[in-house]
Amino acid sequence: MKAYTFRIYPNKNQEVKLNKTLATCRHLYNDSIAKRKRESEFNRLKRDFQVFPWGKLEWIDYYSQKRELTATKTDIQKEVHSQVLQDVIKRVDRSFQNFFNGYGYPRFQGRNRYNTFTFPQSGFDINDMELTLSKIGSIRIFQHREIEGRIKTCTIKKDVDQWYAVFTVDIAKKKDKVPIKTKIGVDVGLESLLTLSNGEKIKPQKFYRKSEEALVWEQRKLSRKKKGSANRKKQIIKVGKVHRKIRKQRKDSNHKTSRGLVKTFDYIVFEDLQINNLVQNRHLAKSILDAGWGQIIRFTAYKAEYAGKTIELVDPYYTSQTCLCGYHVPKKLSVRVHICHQCGLTLNRDHVSAILIERKGTVPTDCGELTPVESMQKQLAEAGSPSIY
Ligand SMILES: [Zn+2]
Repeated sequence: MKAYTFRIYPNKNQEVKLNKTLATCRHLYNDSIAKRKRESEFNRLKRDFQVFPWGKLEWIDYYSQKRELTATKTDIQKEVHSQVLQDVIKRVDRSFQNFFNGYGYPRFQGRNRYNTFTFPQSGFDINDMELTLSKIGSIRIFQHREIEGRIKTCTIKKDVDQWYAVFTVDIAKKKDKVPIKTKIGVDVGLESLLTLSNGEKIKPQKFYRKSEEALVWEQRKLSRKKKGSANRKKQIIKVGKVHRKIRKQRKDSNHKTSRGLVKTFDYIVFEDLQINNLVQNRHLAKSILDAGWGQIIRFTAYKAEYAGKTIELVDPYYTSQTCLCGYHVPKKLSVRVHICHQCGLTLNRDHVSAILIERKGTVPTDCGELTPVESMQKQLAEAGSPSIY
């Protein structure tokens, strides 16, 4: 599945309809969640008291909510394409499935959070300069590149004051895996965004901090506006725009970085870091979000898939506390240089981690060429450094 995003330009009338559709979907979403919630509370009572008139447990599921939707459609809901509404029920179901799998309890969505609706199969048509949506009309679209493959779904997205159409496409053929002749380990960090096991560093672009002043300025202005006033609404849009700018810059940069990695290497090993493990220190958290490395790993993974390259996420356990010789070298996050008292290796700590990450990769390579780790081993040996293996 691949996604294409294009900006659309609804006229005033269409924008009203789009906003109405969003509102209808959001209300349906919240109502459906509320119903499930009530049902489960009711079930708990039945279970706790085991008393007569309430009978046995009943659960609301996707199908019953879908049936109910068809049977009790309101006039407002009839103004929305039926599949779009069904997709809302599916979203509700998905959020409960996630909950059953250990994620958070489904939340009610406010006006600013619920900003997309989806045509899962039909009800939309795209040609030349227009996107035709059932019950909404033909909207001007800026299609800056050709869509390859068969379009499956169309999602309409509101981003502050702009609208987008996102198409997911089924791509029939993926490239077969190419032989692995180059392998690299990648350490994601804060000092330098990415450190490769060949010693190369890819610097972070600190968009957030650059645009932070603008953001602070606009937010301060926002705090001075009176609640509920028209000026406050305008200012909220301004703040949203600054956020959007940062997000776009970061995305572009991450696309560039991941494209470079996939182009250069056949086999890329990342550490499988859970962001939550690191986001404890608040200051640190900001830098991590700033660097946006989760996005880089995602982008690299899907680009690699279509290029026939290999990606592996490995457990980063001890990759920051061990030497290449296997000796335990504990160090705090603030210590930037790795010094091993066993073998004498002195190297940037992120570089050591990247090499250890590369070594953890389990996919066999296809040729006798030296991996970065091996070539560095050779270099060190030639330079007369102590043996480190
Ligand atoms: Zn060592």
